[in-house]
Amino acid sequence: MSDLQELYQSVILDHNRKPRNFGVLEGSNRAADGKNPLCGDEVHVALQVDGDVITDVKFTGHGCAISKASASLMTTAVKGKTREEAEALFARFHALVLGQDAGGGKDLGPLVVFSGVSRFPVRVKCASLAWHTLKAALEHGGLTVERLSVQEPGASGDGSETRDGTRGDRDA
Ligand code: ZN
Repeated sequence: MSDLQELYQSVILDHNRKPRNFGVLEGSNRAADGKNPLCGDEVHVALQVDGDVITDVKFTGHGCAISKASASLMTTAVKGKTREEAEALFARFHALVLGQDAGGGKDLGPLVVFSGVSRFPVRVKCASLAWHTLKAALEHGGLTVERLSVQEPGASGDGSETRDGTRGDRDA
């Protein structure tokens, strides 16, 4: 194993042991569940989306080291990004784990540690599970879509004009 591969391996093991952004996200407004039956990986991704920006993200779940480390690194990679940026990053990441990224992921930051996954096709699903789940949460919003409409501002604005009597059309 080369030095680089050893470095990549140690980053993955570190994120598996101490996953970042692991836990329940209070006040999330998008969420989705993902499963990879081939390996038994399960992940729940919760987001706080403000306008078009992912302001916070956390995950829970269990699975193999690759799936957990990938979920951990995914959360650190997309926090603060717009939906468009996050989906573009997923496209790059997906190409990387399929061995189809022209640059070998060199400009993908810490995500490059998953470049070796392309040599193990059965692991591609493990590595991309959290990202697919992120995408589902962004596209469909999961179970908490209702909460969004409840919080929508400006709903109490109608009807206030009639109070001061300036609209007396009915009397005319
Ligand atoms: Zn797995």
